[in-house]
Amino acid sequence: MRVAVIDRDRCQPKKCSLECIKYCPPVRNGVEAIVMKDDKPVVSEELCVGCGICVHKCPFNAIHIENLADELESELVHQYGENGFRLFRLPSPAQGKVVGILGENGIGKTTAINILAGKLKPNLGRWDNEPSWDEIIDYWRGSQLANYFKKLSNGEIKISYKPQYVDKLASYKGTVRELLNEMECEGKELDSIKGRKVSQLAGGELQKVAITIAMEKDADIYFFDEPSSYLDIKNRMEMAKKIRELAERKMVIVIEHDLAILDFLADIIHIVYGKKGVYGVVAGAKNVRHGINLYLSGYLKEENVRFGEEIKFEKHPPREKPESMPLIKFEGIKKKFSDFMLEVKGGEIYEGEVIGIVGPNGIGKTTFVKILAGVIEPDEGEVDKKIKVSYKPQYIKASEGIVREAFEKNRDKFHALYEKEVLQPLGIHDLFDKELKSLSGGELQMVAIALCLSMEADVYLIDEPSAYLDAKQRMNAAKVIRRIMEKEGKAAMVVEHDVYFIDMVSQALMVFTGQPGKHGIGMGPYSLREGMNLFLKDLGITFRRDEDSNRPRVNKLGSKLDRMQKEIGEYYYEI
Ligand code: ADP
Ligand code: ADP
Ligand code: SF4
Ligand code: SF4
Repeated sequence: MRVAVIDRDRCQPKKCSLECIKYCPPVRNGVEAIVMKDDKPVVSEELCVGCGICVHKCPFNAIHIENLADELESELVHQYGENGFRLFRLPSPAQGKVVGILGENGIGKTTAINILAGKLKPNLGRWDNEPSWDEIIDYWRGSQLANYFKKLSNGEIKISYKPQYVDKLASYKGTVRELLNEMECEGKELDSIKGRKVSQLAGGELQKVAITIAMEKDADIYFFDEPSSYLDIKNRMEMAKKIRELAERKMVIVIEHDLAILDFLADIIHIVYGKKGVYGVVAGAKNVRHGINLYLSGYLKEENVRFGEEIKFEKHPPREKPESMPLIKFEGIKKKFSDFMLEVKGGEIYEGEVIGIVGPNGIGKTTFVKILAGVIEPDEGEVDKKIKVSYKPQYIKASEGIVREAFEKNRDKFHALYEKEVLQPLGIHDLFDKELKSLSGGELQMVAIALCLSMEADVYLIDEPSAYLDAKQRMNAAKVIRRIMEKEGKAAMVVEHDVYFIDMVSQALMVFTGQPGKHGIGMGPYSLREGMNLFLKDLGITFRRDEDSNRPRVNKLGSKLDRMQKEIGEYYYEI
């Protein structure tokens, strides 16, 4: 089966020489395998011989030709128009279970849940001759989905949907209370922020509001698209518990890229594999542990499909004190704002080190780094020297212009390795011709990370790099951050709430505790194990390592392992 996809945003016939058509062998022989139609080329999948010449000749990477297994042909669920993205198969909602969907960005996850949520009517690939509901129901005859679509098409399934981009809620004009009233939502646990303007809430608070509204709605099936973004670890665990409770009575489907949370949250996983922007295949249901391990292995055994490289987790050695002088030393720092007091004990940061920073929002992490950078003077204590900091903030806003310009503008501030060690491995060149404003959340995040890491600096402060990145992009970003610090002999401080990201990126850990907005205490850097022990003890959560993949897994509260680890004080088990 041949699939030809033309990315209509990338294709720019006015700026190329129509190489795709010019070099196509069938066209040269008078067979119209690819022709212009309404200003854009169109590939005939019947006449195309799949040679792939157009794919390589197109200067904008706008064409994709894939040869897929023939058996998929009868499983096409939806196609976005001629030469458009295709989704094969669907996840199955299950009563009393949390069903997780795991796959990279642009692979069709949202398309799948939009179909199940009744927002998008599946066309079974007949984009030019859309099927009726009867035909759709008939197509799934004999499976649970037939019954599901029958009810859905009759309006007998009530839907609740937590969208991906909670930032959009911030355009609401009124207070949290007014929004909740409008949505007929009580929102008891939001009491402390009800009087505040929605537009002034921080990301984590917006996420909580969105989740509460979705949860309180009376529905049969609940969809949560990336419920963990902007939440700190404690909030993520609370959110996961609530969703699990909800699923005791209802159907729940979740898209989540924080794998430690997904592992804890879901019962069943559907992996979606394929090629970004071209096609996606929803693989059969797997139990959650097996499913995540398969995803990390990059190979689906049952289906015999390789879809990526293996992602490995390593055990962490104790933090070594290098021979070299520390990059920065600090001692007994105190800073008081009108309502907030920060105290950071003494510590040292070495060349080449990546330091994870964990702790809730509003606890003084940014203030601390600003003190290191000399932007803020501490009231007490010392930092041994002024350093230059390159900073990626937590919230990123797209400015005008195209991606290429954003880099060209700053070129004189870049270090020598930016091209090879940052832009290339992060795949930024692929985005160069896009408008910043048209980027997806994940793409914008990648651009912001790349800009930050390209700058010449001593310390890189990267605040929540994982937001909107898929699991693979997270692992890739972690690798790039580590490598550039090693090669340049600089240090990075990474504020993160995704435990897998922390585990992959950091050699050392700083822990911030206290009372958010009132009193923050910063400790460390410690070795990862030591730091995690301190941090997790505070949260009352323990992790063990998975036997097969070596990845950290949350222990069930009160389980034998949980109790044993708490007894011996090993909250983050390395064995
Ligand atoms: P995911 O949720 O996994 O990131 P999506 O389901 O949002 O993926 O999108 C998968 C692909 O489908 C995208 O790469 C895009 O090319 C295509 N797509 C999504 N929505 C539309 C649309 N309305 N029209 C045409 N193509 C679309
Ligand atoms: P985090 O990075 O952990 O989210 P921050 O360092 O940004 O935390 O903020 C910690 C606390 O200090 C917050 O309550 C914030 O409102 C307060 N704060 C930060 N900067 C200032 C300032 N310049 N003046 C007064 N309060 C501030
Ligand atoms: Fe030009 Fe590429 Fe579009 Fe063909 S697909 S018209 S080569 S931009
Ligand atoms: Fe023509 Fe080959 Fe491209 Fe098909 S893959 S449209 S045959 S150049």
